[in-house]
Amino acid sequence: SSIFAAVEMAPRDPILGLNESFNADTRSTKVNLGVGVYFDDNGKIPLLAAVKAAEEARLKAAPPRGYQPIEGSPAYNQAVQNLLLGKDSALIANGQVITAQALGGTGALKIGADYLKRLSPNAKVYISDPSWENHRALFESAGFVVENYPYYDAATRGVNFAGMKACLNSLEAGSIIILHACCHNPTGADLSDAQWQEVVDVCRARGLVPFLDMAYQGFADGIDADAVAVRAFSASGLQFFVSSSFSKSFSLYGERVGALSVITASKEEAGRVLSQVKRVIRTNYSNPPIHGGALVAAVLSSPELRQMWETELAGMRDRIRAMRTGLVEAIKAQGVAQDFSFVVQQRGMFSYTGLTAAQVERMKDEFGIYAVSTGRICLAALNTKNLEYVAKAIAAVTK
Ligand code: PMP
Repeated sequence: SSIFAAVEMAPRDPILGLNESFNADTRSTKVNLGVGVYFDDNGKIPLLAAVKAAEEARLKAAPPRGYQPIEGSPAYNQAVQNLLLGKDSALIANGQVITAQALGGTGALKIGADYLKRLSPNAKVYISDPSWENHRALFESAGFVVENYPYYDAATRGVNFAGMKACLNSLEAGSIIILHACCHNPTGADLSDAQWQEVVDVCRARGLVPFLDMAYQGFADGIDADAVAVRAFSASGLQFFVSSSFSKSFSLYGERVGALSVITASKEEAGRVLSQVKRVIRTNYSNPPIHGGALVAAVLSSPELRQMWETELAGMRDRIRAMRTGLVEAIKAQGVAQDFSFVVQQRGMFSYTGLTAAQVERMKDEFGIYAVSTGRICLAALNTKNLEYVAKAIAAVTK
């Protein structure tokens, strides 16, 4: 019989599975609020003008397609460090930071996870409750035991910071803490600057290993403002990991553009760490693809294209904000008594609406509006044409 005869069907990915159901829905009014992708007001994934210009220049130059170094393009990696730490960072000048180009933010997390497993095989990994649904599976697949730390407080729709801090304070030295650097996915609830400083202090006092996941830099308040957590750690003298994703900020989802950075204690240490990270990469996919990273590096290293990109990024950020305000007002206009103004406070692409799984199910059945069963919606899928319709549906299921 077949060697696959006893293979079981794996469960569908909850969000990608939602896409399949959405695509099969024949209603013309359908709306997909499930997937974490930024759409413009016409419901299209934008090709940023800065990216297009960089791509045209690259096409014209027609460079050869040799292998990249194992850690990817030096120009790209330098640009990533500047975005994260600021171009005047002493850590960068000292050579304490290593960066490896990666296959999106997911690839960066996976290289980091595999390297950490070699570095600290017995450490436990802690993720926020709740977290991006791939965090747990990804670190488990690297061989770690993964636990939650308290994070979201449904009563205040904010962060249960006392609970989070108490938990972090109780962990064993060497525990690995996954932190959302900004725009927490799925809740949209972020720590304040003062709370970040407290987290840094706890990590120092308890000897924890921070791993910051930066998937939405520029989507909350701006490029530097959204780096406050990274900057607080970089000022602390601690060692830490950062995964970067440019899927959203450059609208380059399928090009898989990300990076893993590790902040070490010295240049000499950085050299040794990089050599080990390169071993992980070499045995996984040898070296990263050229195209997406080259576009990001070209945009970030040209003053004109960089300015263009910053303007476009601000446009995406402002449009999401406008959709937050618009949704709250449209729901209110439907005569809903429940206060939804918290949606305006939440940051980034997502909102935890508080809609129950049953309400989400009704939105799908009665309106063709798809959301994650936890009540998470993607604000960047709203536009001036579907806003009213979505507000109507939320009103209908919550009244
Ligand atoms: N981390 C978080 C918190 C995310 O939300 C995502 C996905 N949007 C990723 C990592 C993965 O990013 P990428 O699509 O670049 O792999």
